Amino acid sequence: SGKFFVGGNWKCNGTKDSITKLVSDLNSASLEADVDVVVSPPFVYIDQVKSSLSDRIEISGQNSWVGKGGAFTGEISVEQLKDIGCKWVILGHSERRHVIGEVDEFIGKKAAYALSEGLGVIACIGEKLEEREAGKTFDVCFQQLKAFADAVPSWDKVVVAYEPVWAIGTGKVASPQQAQEVHVAVRDWLKKNVSEEVASKTRIIYGGSVNGGNCAELAKEEDIDGFLVGGASLKGPEFATIVNSVT
Ligand code: 13P
Repeated sequence: SGKFFVGGNWKCNGTKDSITKLVSDLNSASLEADVDVVVSPPFVYIDQVKSSLSDRIEISGQNSWVGKGGAFTGEISVEQLKDIGCKWVILGHSERRHVIGEVDEFIGKKAAYALSEGLGVIACIGEKLEEREAGKTFDVCFQQLKAFADAVPSWDKVVVAYEPVWAIGTGKVASPQQAQEVHVAVRDWLKKNVSEEVASKTRIIYGGSVNGGNCAELAKEEDIDGFLVGGASLKGPEFATIVNSVT
């Protein structure tokens, strides 16, 4: 459903030098035409990336403030992301939920505000290992999804990223079947709770230990519409392999 979408989430990694190299590798990679490609550098390097990276690749923030900018020390506003050339923002990432402590309602408000200002939102959901083991995977994902659904006025610019927490940065990628099962459930939830049209049009991408070696098998699954890549997105040629795994 929709164009294949591959995002590179660089997280809190990189230096001016390493990012110069990464951008140059991305600029010289050949990327399948029919894929939306987005990278998300740390805020302080967005300007450097914007001015050196090919326009073929769009840029995302890794987070944004919940409303208009002002006296919010340490935050970055949606307006600033737009001003510096971002088209997207990642919201609800597991590290922001579980390391930094953001909660559903706050994340939903951020999504609504970013969309109202015209940014696209990469809306992240996913269960922890103990939740999966307790049979709560769908409950957790649906609750997180509902918080987005309750807040957003339109799904036109929303991409859902299913990122099981146990798969993030662990090298333990979900099997294609495990990912497909949740993607189908998410699509079904959207069908029942939002609309048939939104369910069929919304891209549902997978994240968690995706790399150049496992992307092709995952990409074959009917409901996997792309990837959100952490570690492997820091290597230009490997990221290109993942982009080109579109089937
Ligand atoms: P890794 O690809 O490093 O597991 O990270 C996934 C992720 O969190 C992308 O947002």
